[in-house]
Amino acid sequence: MASHPMAIVHAELYTPTRRIEDGTVVFAEGRILMVGPSHEVRPPRRAERIDARGHPVTPGLIDLHIHGIEGCDLFGPELAEAARRLPRYGVTAFVPTTLTLPEEEILQRLQAMAQVMEAPPPGARILGIHIEGPHLSPKRPGMANPAWFRPLTPEAVARYQDAAGGRILLWTFAPEEGEAMQAIPALIAQGIIPVIGHSDATYDQAMEAIRRGARQITHFFNAMRPFHHREPGLFTAALLEPEVITQLIADGQHVHPAAIRLLFRLKGPSGVALISDAAPMAGLPPGRYAWLGYEVIVVDGRCQTPEGALAGSIALMNEGLRVLIEEAGIDPLDAVCSATWTPAQALGLRKLGRLRPGAPADLVLWARWGVPEAVWINGERMV
Ligand SMILES: [Zn+2]
Repeated sequence: MASHPMAIVHAELYTPTRRIEDGTVVFAEGRILMVGPSHEVRPPRRAERIDARGHPVTPGLIDLHIHGIEGCDLFGPELAEAARRLPRYGVTAFVPTTLTLPEEEILQRLQAMAQVMEAPPPGARILGIHIEGPHLSPKRPGMANPAWFRPLTPEAVARYQDAAGGRILLWTFAPEEGEAMQAIPALIAQGIIPVIGHSDATYDQAMEAIRRGARQITHFFNAMRPFHHREPGLFTAALLEPEVITQLIADGQHVHPAAIRLLFRLKGPSGVALISDAAPMAGLPPGRYAWLGYEVIVVDGRCQTPEGALAGSIALMNEGLRVLIEEAGIDPLDAVCSATWTPAQALGLRKLGRLRPGAPADLVLWARWGVPEAVWINGERMV
């Protein structure tokens, strides 16, 4: 931990509740001390200074939904190596996400993840585990093998959370399958946030799940019942209910820029959490790969099954932020909010995802959008 204070001066600061054109942020001993316009903030004389030359400084990016990076699969012991590599992409905290496999193998891999989290490696913060499968709809499987799908039950919640040592934080499931609706209180009782996804839920089914406590939608638009004006579906329930946060993949492949603008217009930046949904092939060259027994092909900026279904993305959060701003035309302040403060709120973490006195000093200085120049986690320079 840096013993002397650090001051980043002349930055375009995104707190991200506001943008400060010429801002200064000071931090020491892992915490932010001061944030404000450069003409108001007086860093301590012994502070080490970095001149940002007008470049953006934001909180570190927080990824709620990520499967892998540079050949590391987060669903197992390679989670440790992934945590070391993520800061290079501006990611300072993340929720490693699982995949549909036979239950025995899932439970073993959860134990391995919990072991890594027991003694966290230096790198991005591992906030908890995100379960995605096998409690999904066979009508909306994405790349997953529906032969392994099961409706969610309270007993499954207990078994998985046991194997994970209580570290499961998010759980994506299809509430309309079997008696899954009745498992929502079991999730909440275990401190897990219920996430609707890979779901064919009708409007009424989605509303019932939301009434029972579902609070997020996994990769909104992808692998869900679309809009129809006589059966408006999960799509409309998620858009209309203000307490529901929609996860969004912005890799330039999964969602059209106009659909991204529509979502931001209707939900606002506090209702959209940028996610990567990155596959372990993110950062690897094009080619054929095996992903936990699933065959996938990386080609033309996509990761897909031999049948052509998208299989996660190969872009990380930094690229998603760039796509939001430069390709979808989202205001940078809103885009930064959806990649930092909103995901922190979605997890109930009040201190992460913003620059203000007392918050952990997790921040990124950007050479330009998408390209981190310097990254700090808990005040320590990682990149
Ligand atoms: Zn998915």
